[in-house]
Amino acid sequence: MRKKLLLGNWKMNLTIAEATKFAQASIPLVEKAKAANVLLGVAPTYLSLATVKQHNPGLIVSAQNIHFENNGAFTGEISVPMLKEIGIHWTLIGHSERRNYFGETNLICNKKMLKALTEGMTVVYCVGESSDDYDHGRTKAVIRDQLLVGLAGMTAEHLQHVVIAYEPVWSIGTGKNASKEHAQDIAIYIRERLEEMFNAESSQKTLILYGGSVKPNNIKDYLSQPDVDGALVGGASLNVTSFEELLTNMLR
Ligand code: PEP
Repeated sequence: MRKKLLLGNWKMNLTIAEATKFAQASIPLVEKAKAANVLLGVAPTYLSLATVKQHNPGLIVSAQNIHFENNGAFTGEISVPMLKEIGIHWTLIGHSERRNYFGETNLICNKKMLKALTEGMTVVYCVGESSDDYDHGRTKAVIRDQLLVGLAGMTAEHLQHVVIAYEPVWSIGTGKNASKEHAQDIAIYIRERLEEMFNAESSQKTLILYGGSVKPNNIKDYLSQPDVDGALVGGASLNVTSFEELLTNMLR
């Protein structure tokens, strides 16, 4: 039986002071999630990682990105050992905003994931098609490439530390939701590819999230799908009241 996961992606939002308030206010939510066998976490900016961890140690605290080298001349970047030193063991990789605004390719995602996994981190690998790909029926082909290249060189053991987040790019921050049937269809497609690349058991164990304009009023639709194990949520995760509603409603 796979666990459920609710993960907030704060993107470039919330100052350290705001993140601290959120962390303190969300302490009761951790207990509520634990009682329901739900993993609960947020991905703050680098600046707020330590403070969120400190003020709510039970919450999963994830980076939004890493570099694949340990150190060196990479201005503006943060490495895995730096994150581990402050107790951060999760990271997103390949969010569509990283891919679209910062030129991250499937190959770069692969290097980052291999690095993170080798260092014992858990990775949330984001995949999803653009609006143009969706309109032209290329969704599955795009996702197939993202999985084949992104997860190349990994073992079934590595896969146990990878969560796949399916996020149609046209749905992120737009209020245009993918239907729950579409989310389920793609989640099954991802599971089939994982089975081909690894094995059936590992594929069945892998958590697959849906992301894209998930709100308290629609989260249950996605979570009611058998192959959707949780949600990666941007906008609706920034406020602790709305975050609590997401958790409450996904458990209904
Ligand atoms: C995201 O940032 O991954 C996301 C899905 O954002 P939103 O929920 O705001 O669409």
